[in-house]
Amino acid sequence: MKIALIAHDKKKDDLVRFALAYKLILDPHELYATGTTGKRVIDETGLQVHRFQSGPLGGDQQIGAMIAENDMDAVIFFRDPLTAQPHEPDITALIRLCDVYNIPLATNMGSAEILVHALGRGELDWRDIVHGRNNTT
Ligand code: PGA
Repeated sequence: MKIALIAHDKKKDDLVRFALAYKLILDPHELYATGTTGKRVIDETGLQVHRFQSGPLGGDQQIGAMIAENDMDAVIFFRDPLTAQPHEPDITALIRLCDVYNIPLATNMGSAEILVHALGRGELDWRDIVHGRNNTT
């Protein structure tokens, strides 16, 4: 599965802790992230992550482009709901595309826990059927 990880600045510590806690579940999958989030996850968890541009510099749009190609299977996006973001339109667009393509999206720790447990149990494997893939990564 292809999983996107994104966290706004005040949520990056939470995302790194989340990725550490669920490293064994995340490790077999292809991980993608916006630039700064990805660097922190790589440095602090040892997970392999493909890094896009930083979010405000287009990273959310790059992940959105993968979603538009139906080439992203889930998005874990720890948003900061209490701080204005300069790239708010990109964030809205990313969330909208998840809805357009029925991509599982978690925007906080509570829903991310459910999503990652579902991933670990193979409950997102229907995405492989969508893609005609026959493996589980
Ligand atoms: P960043 O981008 O990981 O490069 O900080 C995330 C965001 O702010 O959208």
